Amino acid sequence: MLITREIKEAAAAVGFDACGVCRALEVDGERTFFEDWLGRGFNAGLDYLERNIDKRFDPALLVPGARSVIVCGVVYKNSTSLGYGGECCTKVASYARTTDYHVTIKQMLRELAERLRLSSSGARFRAFTDTAPLLEKSLAREAGLGFIGRNKLLVSPRYGSFILLGELVTDADADKYDVPYDGVGCGDCRRCIEACPMRALTPQGLDARRCLARVTIEPHPELVPSLVQDAVARSGWIFGCDVCQSVCPYNAKSPEYSNPRFAPLFDPSAMSADDWRQMTDEDFDTLFASTPMSRSGLARIRQLLSETE
Ligand code: SF4
Ligand code: SF4
Repeated sequence: MLITREIKEAAAAVGFDACGVCRALEVDGERTFFEDWLGRGFNAGLDYLERNIDKRFDPALLVPGARSVIVCGVVYKNSTSLGYGGECCTKVASYARTTDYHVTIKQMLRELAERLRLSSSGARFRAFTDTAPLLEKSLAREAGLGFIGRNKLLVSPRYGSFILLGELVTDADADKYDVPYDGVGCGDCRRCIEACPMRALTPQGLDARRCLARVTIEPHPELVPSLVQDAVARSGWIFGCDVCQSVCPYNAKSPEYSNPRFAPLFDPSAMSADDWRQMTDEDFDTLFASTPMSRSGLARIRQLLSETE
């Protein structure tokens, strides 16, 4: 039996800002919406989203014997999260300014599991962060961390939406489970929908074929290249996009990161388009190898910038 108070203390000790615990129950309410979303092609060719759909809605199919899910969140808001000043035309999403969160959060979850094993011998844990078919945001809501906003992200009333999630799925029961978030959500606000430069937030869900967070990183065959070029030229985003978060009122007063593992490694606002164009592959590797920017690489950034000259 896990003691929820001890779980939360341990999560804070390894650097998570938020932690909630829910039962590993089937989350079936959103399945129809998800399948409709896939049917529209809104997953933008991300085939892995079409696989293991049953597991996605039932943690016990993903981890046999699963009884509880420990959902953890860590704030990554930084100096550019609420927007870039002036005429910056080389904007980079906030999350990409730090070490790749898949690596950092996995490490933090391992550290958390180690601590919990000390007090709950025999319990097994599996760590996930954005890499497995697990409904992270729905589980976060079940664990009381916040609600899913119209920007399709988890919004914490306290920490806003610049929060990254990671989960430990365990076969142990907890002595106490959090209640699902039941507070105020978006209300009448539609700022993210109205501010999206690509009109990617639709009533049927996020159309990833249009979303800059997807198309700046990897071209998609269904997206007209001129649409991307135009959006990059207009918006200045060369890797990801923060717009539907920076306009969110919940982020206006939310705190910036306090965990030093999420300290930015570079400042895109101090770099010009020419800095990116003239950068060598060696310099790029030295500066960005540990960041998510290594996923698309320098060639993709150069391509976006050359198309907008
Ligand atoms: S990340 Fe940018 S392009 Fe994508 S939905 Fe949000 S505002 Fe729109
Ligand atoms: S900007 Fe408004 S509508 Fe969008 S997620 Fe935030 S509160 Fe909800």
